Amino acid sequence: MKKLAMLAVIVLMGISATCMAAEKILRVATEPTFAPFEFTDDKGEFVGFDMDLIRAMGKEAGYKVEIQHIGFDALIPSLQTNIIDCAASGITITEARSKVVTFSAPYYTAGLQVLVSVGNTDIKGYTDLKGKKIACQIGTTGENKSRQVDGATVVAYNTNVEACMELVNGGADAVINDAPVIAFYLKTPAGKKCKAVGDILEAEEYGFAFNKNNVKLTKDMNKALATLKKNGEYDKIYAKWFN
Ligand code: GLN
Repeated sequence: MKKLAMLAVIVLMGISATCMAAEKILRVATEPTFAPFEFTDDKGEFVGFDMDLIRAMGKEAGYKVEIQHIGFDALIPSLQTNIIDCAASGITITEARSKVVTFSAPYYTAGLQVLVSVGNTDIKGYTDLKGKKIACQIGTTGENKSRQVDGATVVAYNTNVEACMELVNGGADAVINDAPVIAFYLKTPAGKKCKAVGDILEAEEYGFAFNKNNVKLTKDMNKALATLKKNGEYDKIYAKWFN
């Protein structure tokens, strides 16, 4: 009997340890004005390619994924101060950012493009932006690229939605944003008033970002991403948002 009771205790301890392990929480943050990568549906849920992928990666690595909304320019500082564990927000892997956070393996290839009003005839691409008023999202590669234009007035908004609204309302001549986000926007009612012009500027790779000291988490999440790429789950999520 004593032995049986001992055994029961051991089994129970095992079960609760497994439950606790399954309850490891991954605090993910995103700036959800970046459809189809991250946005909110009518119920206020975070949806999009990044959201599905990070949830699947977290699950594969044994985490309970909790997603919260943080401004784009606050994502990296929030990682550095350990307020969050992971930023999933269509973040381009850049040299400057790689100095302060660690990125996962690249999971999507994008690039910037110029968006103008449908009736605009003088801006045919990036090189026509000199002296123009450009709207963009704060802290993005789009803002960086906007600031490199000679004589341009750059207005950086907290969200992509506001930047595009400024263009639609006639307050800006152009928006510089990621091409897949522009492509998605063009299919929305507001997007019908706009058009993409010129080629996609240089290619940019997206990565999920982690605190530099969180080596194990980065390793686990990269392993999970590789598994999802191999077992067809990544392709399924990709097809859901891009086909
Ligand atoms: N890919 C761009 C960047 O990393 C834009 C990301 C975004 O607006 N969410 O700066």
